Amino acid sequence: MLQDIDLRELSQMQGNGRDFVSVYFRGEDGIESLRSRERMLRAMLEEMPDEAEHFDMSMQLVHELLEKHPVRAEGVCVFACALLDFVRGYPLSMPVPNELRVGPSPYIRPLAELQDEYQTFALVACDNSATRIFLVTNHQAELEDQIKGGVKNHVKKGGWSQKRYSRRRENQLHRYAGEVVDALAQLVNEHGLERIVLTGSEETMREIKDELPEDLAQKVVGQEAFDLNRSEGELLDAAYEAYFAEEIEFEQKLWERIKNEYQRHGLAVTGATDVLDAFRTGRVETAIVTTDAQLRGTQCRDCEWVVHGTPKTCQQCGSKSVFELDLVDVFAKQAELTSSRVEFSDPIAGLSKVGGVAALLRY
Ligand SMILES: [Zn+2]
Repeated sequence: MLQDIDLRELSQMQGNGRDFVSVYFRGEDGIESLRSRERMLRAMLEEMPDEAEHFDMSMQLVHELLEKHPVRAEGVCVFACALLDFVRGYPLSMPVPNELRVGPSPYIRPLAELQDEYQTFALVACDNSATRIFLVTNHQAELEDQIKGGVKNHVKKGGWSQKRYSRRRENQLHRYAGEVVDALAQLVNEHGLERIVLTGSEETMREIKDELPEDLAQKVVGQEAFDLNRSEGELLDAAYEAYFAEEIEFEQKLWERIKNEYQRHGLAVTGATDVLDAFRTGRVETAIVTTDAQLRGTQCRDCEWVVHGTPKTCQQCGSKSVFELDLVDVFAKQAELTSSRVEFSDPIAGLSKVGGVAALLRY
């Protein structure tokens, strides 16, 4: 599953030069559409005979793997490096743009973007008769827990019995909400979830919200009334709407924080050159990159130094043996290796103006 792919492990892999092949494609015939890209890349590598040979060997590993395990998923990604005798494929439950790249390590940017976009969250669908708690990941909802409420809706009775009835009903609701919160807390802890979406009847949601301890209450990103008789597909759509709305707000707030820090010469940097430098020294706490950012970098084959931009010689050792790479991918890997984080955001005007990337620093 997407969220289980260990990007840190992939980030630790390093070949020499451009020995790693990374393949992404959609569905069963996706690989066919990559053939022409494969031929083009092969032709471009002609001037580096070693890399051309390793490319052929690595592509063979890719094709062998796909023959052995025919694709049944929406999307697939495969990484291969013949020199390291490494090949691994991942089925993905969502389509990915076709892509074929060579580089010094697995190209993880598309996976990092997807993992950021589709973080697993808890969905609580509740009304007074029952609550279902789902774990939502990659547009799929898995039912994790079901709690019976059995709390009757208000009925009109008179006088003394009305009061007694109300009190009993309140106690029932209270107990019921407590049970829901216990189950939810367990799920959140077990999976390290950062977000909770509440949906269903107003009264039950309010009761549950009141019972949530502070740390869990802070994770609630949506609280929308929803008729639970509607389909599970509609339920999921509504949950994602709340989740994505919060995601956009979170990205905006992060950019505001970075901007404020930067303006008062605090712990923030903007632009690819400074962000790269901060990553290199392990100072990045959280970076934000727009999903449309095209940041070109150059790596040296001899000393592995990476710079922003496309100089023809290495600025560290003077070697002329250099190749281009995607700096956003470098950032995604650095984040994995230094336990920091890259937030991928939709374009934000101010952020795009400073080069599409900025970061909050640890020190
Ligand atoms: Zn160098």
